[in-house]
Amino acid sequence: MAFKPANNIQDLQYFGEFGGVNPSISDSSTYTFLSAKTMFDTFEGNADGCYLYSRHSSPSNLYLGEALAAMEGTETANVSASGMGAITAVLMQLCDAGDHIVSSRTIYGGTYAFLKNFAPKFNMSTSFVAITNLEAVEASITSKTKVLYCESVSNPLLEIADIRGLARLAKKYQLTLVVDNTFSPLSISPATLGADIVIHSLTKFINGASDTVGGVVCASQAFINDLRHVNDGAAMLLGATMDSLRASSILKNLRTLHIRMQQHSKNALYLAEKFEADGLKTVYPGLRSHPSHVLFKSMMNTEYGFGGMLTIDVGSITKANALMELMQNRNLGYLAVSLGFYKTLFSAPGTSTSSEIPEEEQKDMGLSNGLIRFSIGLDADIARTYSMMRDCMAELNILT
Ligand SMILES: *Cc1c(COP(=O)(O)O)cnc(C)c1O
Repeated sequence: MAFKPANNIQDLQYFGEFGGVNPSISDSSTYTFLSAKTMFDTFEGNADGCYLYSRHSSPSNLYLGEALAAMEGTETANVSASGMGAITAVLMQLCDAGDHIVSSRTIYGGTYAFLKNFAPKFNMSTSFVAITNLEAVEASITSKTKVLYCESVSNPLLEIADIRGLARLAKKYQLTLVVDNTFSPLSISPATLGADIVIHSLTKFINGASDTVGGVVCASQAFINDLRHVNDGAAMLLGATMDSLRASSILKNLRTLHIRMQQHSKNALYLAEKFEADGLKTVYPGLRSHPSHVLFKSMMNTEYGFGGMLTIDVGSITKANALMELMQNRNLGYLAVSLGFYKTLFSAPGTSTSSEIPEEEQKDMGLSNGLIRFSIGLDADIARTYSMMRDCMAELNILT
């Protein structure tokens, strides 16, 4: 039977304290115990259903975590204050000093900076590889390797990871496959394809309102227990905890994610096909010209489409900047980083979200400086948006 991530979210029933249709928000940092013995057991992790202190766990965070675990098909999940709070906690939990990580070289700039500049302070090293080349991935695995790390749809080049193939390698060498699924919620369900741990920045499509940062780790109960452990859990001890009020607001937004993803995908496919037909160098996984179009199709939950992210290359940073400014002046979107908003957002990754990656390496991975990354919005009339974007491009001599 096909995996139904949105049904899994909707089938959860959480009633509030007074029969509310939304769960009550637990507005407390600490919890009372009727007996001192129960408090001790809770510290030891032996008292199910008891809360201790909200950096460890809280009812509101657990509600959101369980909904996200249902969406991804993992046993459970742990929410965090940001996507980076999830990513760094996972990697610090999985690796000891001396351990090695094999990572896709096209990843979120912050993750790249963490692996390249920060993790080496703890003697954790990383090999960055072309993730679409499974032989290259396998060749960089050493006896010290613990983690295989990638994004299902990579930022900003929209390369697609072969999650089944990577899972086979992870199994063969006893590695943990960690997949950041921020760009493709609902469309791709990495855990059903063999990923061990699935991470999201909730900041993006999942919350969808650009009003907060947030993150989640979806994994086995055993791993989440490790992350939360009071003595050596990275989530507990590094402390990037989500606030209860935020957890409750993100849960409410999560419930409309399937409708939003369908509209993001529909609009993005429309624009990608038009841009490509106009002769623009366009990258979108839903285009047959995308080198991993067939692979994406083999992994996707069809009804959610190919996602809301696309890129075009307009040749130079000068042209890219002029186009973005003109589109913003005409209210076609905002010149902003981030993604998953109702409004289209655009930025030039080379000088913004991927500026952590040195210019040489950017060139090497095919990140040219005329590249514009679009997060396509929920526009009700995408044909009108397209025709106005086309006017902008014509005025700037981008279309020939
Ligand atoms: C934004 C983003 C992150 C980081 O998430 P924050 O919530 O900003 O900490 C990680 N991975 C991807 C793919 C992202 O787009």
